[in-house]
Amino acid sequence: MAQNLKLEVVTPEKAVINEEVQIVVAPGSLGEFGILAGHTPFLSTLKTGVLRYKDTGGSEHFIFVSSGFAEALPDKVTILAESAERRRDIDVERAKSALERARKRLEKKKEDMDFIRARAALERAIHRMNIVN
Ligand code: ATP
Repeated sequence: MAQNLKLEVVTPEKAVINEEVQIVVAPGSLGEFGILAGHTPFLSTLKTGVLRYKDTGGSEHFIFVSSGFAEALPDKVTILAESAERRRDIDVERAKSALERARKRLEKKKEDMDFIRARAALERAIHRMNIVN
């Protein structure tokens, strides 16, 4: 039987998960990467997106992560994200409102609008909605 590894996801506010998993697939800044037990140690930055993992029973789970870092050791993956939520913890109405706010801001194209910030908020909302839908 394949070996498992520990997955820990934390944000400055909370511990999101800490459990044994079979595989982790994370949204690296340079593209998605998968980690299995026994992987060579490495560090990577993450972009906002969806982290997937298979639990020890083989069920797939999705976690929203808003940028951060991943540290992979042979028996453990640690994700430090600015914000992170399990699928069941995502508030759909809140994500919808954030999406609308960001869209309106981007459509108005006001001179004092912070494009990068509005774009990042839009991306976070879209990924949250995608996980739930
Ligand atoms: P909002 O504008 O609604 O605050 P945001 O994308 O700016 O959204 P973040 O800065 O990513 O929010 O996160 C701030 C905190 O709120 C974090 O603890 C994050 O987990 C939580 N959070 C944000 N949006 C949601 C959501 N739709 N469902 C559950 N938790 C959320």
